[in-house]
Amino acid sequence: MSVRVFVPTPLRPYVNGQDHVELPARTVGEALSALVAQYEKLRPHLFAEDGQLRSFVNVYVNDEDIRYLKREETTVRPGDSISIIPSIAGGAAGGSGGSGGGLHPGGSVGAPGSAHPEGATATLDIAPSLRFARNWEEVTLSPEEIRRYSRHLIMPEVGMEGQKKLKAARVLLLGAGGLGSPLGLVDFDVVEFSNLQRQILHGTKDVGRGKLESARERILDVNPGVEVELHGARLTSANALEILRDYDIIVDGTDNFPTRYLVNDACILLGKPNVYGSIFRFEGQASVFYAAEGPCYRCLYPEPPPPGLVPSCAEGGVLGVLPGLIGAIQTNETIKLILGQGRPLIGRLLLVDALKMRFREVRLRKDPACPVCGERPTIRELIDYEAFCGLPQAEEQARAEAGAVPEIDVHEFRRWVDEGRPIRVIDVREPYEWDIAHLDFARLIPLGQLPEHLRELDSAQEYVVHCRTGGRSAKAAALLRDAGFRKVWNLRGGIKAWAEEIDPSLPTY
Ligand SMILES: [Zn+2]
Repeated sequence: MSVRVFVPTPLRPYVNGQDHVELPARTVGEALSALVAQYEKLRPHLFAEDGQLRSFVNVYVNDEDIRYLKREETTVRPGDSISIIPSIAGGAAGGSGGSGGGLHPGGSVGAPGSAHPEGATATLDIAPSLRFARNWEEVTLSPEEIRRYSRHLIMPEVGMEGQKKLKAARVLLLGAGGLGSPLGLVDFDVVEFSNLQRQILHGTKDVGRGKLESARERILDVNPGVEVELHGARLTSANALEILRDYDIIVDGTDNFPTRYLVNDACILLGKPNVYGSIFRFEGQASVFYAAEGPCYRCLYPEPPPPGLVPSCAEGGVLGVLPGLIGAIQTNETIKLILGQGRPLIGRLLLVDALKMRFREVRLRKDPACPVCGERPTIRELIDYEAFCGLPQAEEQARAEAGAVPEIDVHEFRRWVDEGRPIRVIDVREPYEWDIAHLDFARLIPLGQLPEHLRELDSAQEYVVHCRTGGRSAKAAALLRDAGFRKVWNLRGGIKAWAEEIDPSLPTY
């Protein structure tokens, strides 16, 4: 007599690494209460201090969002599954293509009520018709192109008409990664070694080059007929409408929350479909947000998570094949939208767990109160997305915390070590980071475990705390100071600065 609660990758560390937990419960509220009672460290990630479910955590019973059922009062039956679906922002970087569908007759926004509604759906069963910036009927294929695309041309779903649409379509890829027909790329980054493991557009020889040039070279090598337009800028509220305007479809492979919301809002204001993909470790999400036909990103996640709660790929890592997997799904959706074939991911969120190799999907509903695509939109132009996502405040907070704790740089720290000063060094990273590189004279206590180890530490001693780059150790230093430790120093730049400036034999990551 129990329900299964699926736990997403970012939250698994709080439930001993399990991907699901079986619990006896009659309602969603009971199940979640039982879950956080059993795993106390999970509580702050699901519930605010006032006991309310956090707004950026979406909870589903089977494939239904509880916001459209009876929220925590929603009844569950044995065998039901409850899914916790958090925001993840990691970029998939890959994609092109296109087709769409029309709204299913009778498709509507489901009313709150029954725990197991039938038929009330905003998903699309047929492809919507896409507005092309270029007239595809005027496009012709050369004999060489006919040879190149022969395996497409013999498919009834593509044919000559479809291939002309693919050639006419203008796809904008945000984050340099994919392939396409006339293809716009937006990126401002350079290729780093740590990118090569998953960003197959770039090779070892490209390290240090701009991603745009590297991507263009690779795409033109695959297909010289692709018109590649480069936009070497960070997408901002000031330039987004201008850049996105000329494209038929936007593929979002970006990696941070402010840009996700910016892309969403810009696509709605311009009436363009947004092919969404995001990744974290072994987990990916994909959907198509097309406000003309279904819900948008804000209907799913009205608010971003507080800064720092959801780690980025740079902090949390990502499996090398996952961008390819999710990027291929985005590409497939883009091609379907261009061809006007199939059933698009509009109104559905596809969840990919590559570790279990399980694909699930949940229904997305258009929120009538959505501030951008709802009945009475309040956002009619692009806003300050950094402020919306709370980033300046977070930086100030981090600075305030770091400022309150004295810092030393790696050169000073080295002098102390060389002098034999009686300092204790605590590394607050995770064990798998310690395995990559560590200081022999440091002791490993991951930040999350520091509170329970405080009693073993002597507050009369002098401490230097470090992590990878100094952020987590600033928190650790503040925690030690608040616990009565008076002589605590944060190592500025962390072990990365140590490796770069003091000991180049240490690997960096
Ligand atoms: Zn919306």
